[in-house]
Amino acid sequence: MGLTRSEYNQISKVYEERQMRDHRTLELHKKTAMERIPALRDLENEILDLSMETYRSMQSGNHQALAEMRKKVEAATARRKTLLKEHGLPEDYLEPVYECPDCHDKGYIEGPNGREKCHCYREMEMQFLYRQSGVSTIVRAENFDTFDLSVYDDGTMVGPNTSNLQYMRNVRDHLIDWCRRFPDNPEKERNLLFRGDPGTGKTFLLNCIAKAVMDRYHSVIYLTSIDLFESLSYKKNKSEEDETDEMLEAILDCELLIIDDLGTEMNNTFTSSKLFYILNQRIVYQRSTIISTNLKHDQLRDSYGERTASRLNGSFDRYALFGTDIRNRRKNGR
Ligand SMILES: [Zn+2]
Repeated sequence: MGLTRSEYNQISKVYEERQMRDHRTLELHKKTAMERIPALRDLENEILDLSMETYRSMQSGNHQALAEMRKKVEAATARRKTLLKEHGLPEDYLEPVYECPDCHDKGYIEGPNGREKCHCYREMEMQFLYRQSGVSTIVRAENFDTFDLSVYDDGTMVGPNTSNLQYMRNVRDHLIDWCRRFPDNPEKERNLLFRGDPGTGKTFLLNCIAKAVMDRYHSVIYLTSIDLFESLSYKKNKSEEDETDEMLEAILDCELLIIDDLGTEMNNTFTSSKLFYILNQRIVYQRSTIISTNLKHDQLRDSYGERTASRLNGSFDRYALFGTDIRNRRKNGR
């Protein structure tokens, strides 16, 4: 799982607050009902006594007494419902109110294999993952399910007996498999580099991967190259510096880092040294990085230096993307 301890603490807090709110709501309902229906107090006490009796019968294993007690509790509860309705209140007015009826706002349920996370908890984890990833929820529309192979040309040959369409079908299938295996991909496939001219579908592929990986609850940070270096650049004051430190920590720690359009930033010694540091750290800690770029290998070497180029060469599984501008083909309805 890809959330930090502090994010898990935040989620725990949400559940604590929900439980407190549920409790307050119920107390408020009790107060309102008691004020409106004086007879209710006696009935409540009766139900409480009966519940305690029921518990005792259960403990002592007296089945007959237990069955009788349960009947009495049911009758008293039915009387309570009638009483509430007669006074214009909903009949479940004194039942606990939960935002999630499945886990009663605890965040977990007792499953066949013991305690497990409730669907509401998983949904909250997803929200945190998307928030930290930089992948907007709109981008969730760009995924392997909406991957349209028909934008690739079956007439353009990109290899011996391989059209671009066939090639991209293989790439797509391979990437789906890559995401399914994440984060246990073999070392030589741990990092991916997509190279292609503008409009060959690099960003779309990155979005597909980001979504597939996040849908399996792994942490992803997705940044354009420009945003990456901007977020790490010189800061004016202490609080901005703290933000930068946090950002760098997240960039180094996330399970998958995606850098889109490497080479479009203003390149200088700062960007070169930061890039090397990030790539190197992530390789050392065996965390996956995916990069897309328009630059060819020698251009990457010229921009970022020999040692970075050699990392990109040696530790990244490289994909070339071909074809005419997909964006134009999409626009032209082809
Ligand atoms: Zn729940």
